[in-house]
Amino acid sequence: LAERIAEEADSPSESPDGWRMSLYMNAGLSTEIEMAGNSQSAGIGLYRTEIPFMLRERFPSEQEQVLLYRQILESAPTQPITMRTLDVGGDKPLPYFPISEENPFLGWRGVRLTLDHPEIFLVQVRAMLRASLGLNNLQIMLPMITSVSEVKEAKRLIDQAFYEIGDEIKGQDVILHKPLIGIMLEVPSVLYQLPQLARQVDFFSVGSNDLTQYLLAVDRNNSRVANLYNCYHPAVLSALYDIVKQADHHNIPVTVCGEIAGEPGGAILLMGMGYRKLSMNAYNLRKVNWLIRNVTLKESKRLLSCALTTTSHEEVFQHINEFLEHKG
Ligand code: PEP
Ligand code: MG
Repeated sequence: LAERIAEEADSPSESPDGWRMSLYMNAGLSTEIEMAGNSQSAGIGLYRTEIPFMLRERFPSEQEQVLLYRQILESAPTQPITMRTLDVGGDKPLPYFPISEENPFLGWRGVRLTLDHPEIFLVQVRAMLRASLGLNNLQIMLPMITSVSEVKEAKRLIDQAFYEIGDEIKGQDVILHKPLIGIMLEVPSVLYQLPQLARQVDFFSVGSNDLTQYLLAVDRNNSRVANLYNCYHPAVLSALYDIVKQADHHNIPVTVCGEIAGEPGGAILLMGMGYRKLSMNAYNLRKVNWLIRNVTLKESKRLLSCALTTTSHEEVFQHINEFLEHKG
């Protein structure tokens, strides 16, 4: 099977009955970025900017960030690169910006923190925009969005940075393109505000890791409740299904960038739901590509309807395992 997977690595991700998928890469380390250029992905669906921040001893300067982001945008200049604004807090501490909270996952994280510190947000967005000069592949994504007001506030700051950089390059022979702006869907409140959110942004991306944690009220890193944390819980699957139906209805592109997108059973279920964009760790790309090329949309829909009638993730796994065994 490994040989067959490798043989088909460069073939398009299209099911035998014509369902076209676009596969993107999740990245954060520079080694992963090096892989982006020569992987078969259609771009970077999630660049976790907090990772280089976490590896330092102080906030990187605007210029340091420009150099880093430029390298990433240039690694695949014809493909979309989705840079997520700083998503620290929760389980991702910055050694030089200590936060002490009783409930970090319900606390000061993602845009909550950067909107309270617009100077951090602005420096980062200015750096992204400066890095994108002359290119047209930057997309900016906002993590941990809970309310429409946060999106409006972040967009106002992005606009401010855009006009500042525009002013600074006046008279120079270089083009600044307006990036597409999207949000992570990972806090359950957004499930009930999708029409309003769709009017504010260009794309959605589902953070199924956090969505699972918040929907099931299970800390994603607490080993005591690890048996309860599962993105194949029927409630999570229903939420994922609902999101793609609503996104289609509002004509807004939607990607899944949580771990489920890179897992064989998960990718097939997402295909059955109607997702067309999945973003995953580089080492899962080939496997998922092969599966999509060898599973029909019809089969994936059948698996999905079985999964949606279950009452537990164990039962979902049973269906997935039977299906995958049958596929070889
Ligand atoms: C997620 O929450 O699913 C996600 C992709 O982001 P992270 O794992 O970085 O929180
Ligand atoms: Mg997340």
